Amino acid sequence: MKKVGFVGLGNMGFFMSKILSLNNYVVSGYDVNESVFQTLKEFKITQAPTLSEIAHENDVIITMLPDGIIVEEVWTEILNDIQSKTLLVDCSTIDIKTCKKIHNLAKNKNILSLDAPVSGGTIGAENGSLTFMVGGDDKAYKNMLPLFEVMGNKSILCGHAGSGQATKMCNNLLLAITMSGLGEAIQLANSQSLDMEKFYQVLSTSTGSCWALNNYCPIKNIGPTSPADNNFKPGFSSQLMLKDLTLALSASLQANLNLNIGKKVLENYQKLVENQEGHLDFSNIINYNE
Ligand code: NAD
Repeated sequence: MKKVGFVGLGNMGFFMSKILSLNNYVVSGYDVNESVFQTLKEFKITQAPTLSEIAHENDVIITMLPDGIIVEEVWTEILNDIQSKTLLVDCSTIDIKTCKKIHNLAKNKNILSLDAPVSGGTIGAENGSLTFMVGGDDKAYKNMLPLFEVMGNKSILCGHAGSGQATKMCNNLLLAITMSGLGEAIQLANSQSLDMEKFYQVLSTSTGSCWALNNYCPIKNIGPTSPADNNFKPGFSSQLMLKDLTLALSASLQANLNLNIGKKVLENYQKLVENQEGHLDFSNIINYNE
C-alpha cells in the first residue's frame, strides 16, 4: 500500500495528501483546480493528468470531494480503469444513499471499498490528528489502517458500508448545534460587557466547554488561532455545513424523527448562504443567531 492516488486536494485533501507524502507514501493527485499543484509539488506530490491515470497507477485511491454527485462521477470513471487489488476509500461527507451506491459499484468489480469521512477540520488534517469514521468490511479496514494512522489519531470501523457516513452525519448535526449555542452565549456575554478573554478562560474549563469553544474559538484574538482570526476564511465552509445539516434532516424525516433544534440551526445556515456568506467558515454562524 505504498502508492496513493488522491482526488480532491482542497482545504482538507491538500493537508491529507501532504502528510502521506511526508511519511514516504508515493502520492499522485488529481483535482479540477490545477492551481493546487503549485504548492503540492514542493511536497513531491505529482499531478496526474487524468482520473484514468490515477486508476491505473495506485494501490489505494482516496477521494476528498465536495458532495455525493461528484464522488459518484469520479468513482464511476475510476472504476472503468481500475486495477484489481486497488482499494477505494471515500473520505468526503456524502449522503448515505450515494455512499451505498458507490460501494456497490466497487463490489460489482470486486474492488474493496470504504466510506471513511473525517472529523477534526483542516487543523486535524494538517496535524495528522483526524478521526476517521469508517464503514465497510474488516479486510478493507485493515489494509487502510496504516494510512489512517498517518493521517489521523483515531479510526473506528463503525460497521457495514454507510456506517461511517451515518456516524459523521450525527457528529456534524451536533457540531452545528454547539457552534450556534456558543454564538448565543457570546452574544449574551457581550451584552453584559464581559471581558472575552476571561469568558474564554472560564468556559473552556467549565461544563460549557466544547470542541467549538476550546479548539475553534470563534472570537477574534481569543483562544487558539481559528478562522475568526482570519475574517472567517475557511476552515470548513458554511456551504458544506448546510450540506451536512440537509443530509441529517433528510435522514431524520425518513426515520420519522423531529429534530427541532437541528431544523432551527439549518434555517440559520440557509440565511447565511442566501446572504452570500456560504463560502466563509461555518463558525461565522455566531453572527446569525436570530
Ligand atoms: P474543498 O471545496 O476545499 O475541496 C474540494 C476539492 O475537490 C477542490 O479542490 C475542488 O477543486 C475539487 N474537485 C471538485 N470537483 C472535482 C472533480 N470532479 N474532480 C476532481 N477534483 C474535484 O472542500 P473541503 O473543505 O476540502 O472538503 C472536502 C470534503 O470533506 C467535503 O465532503 C466536506 O464536507 C468534508 N469535510 C470537510 C472538513 C473541513 O473542515 N473542510 C471537515 C470534515 C469533512
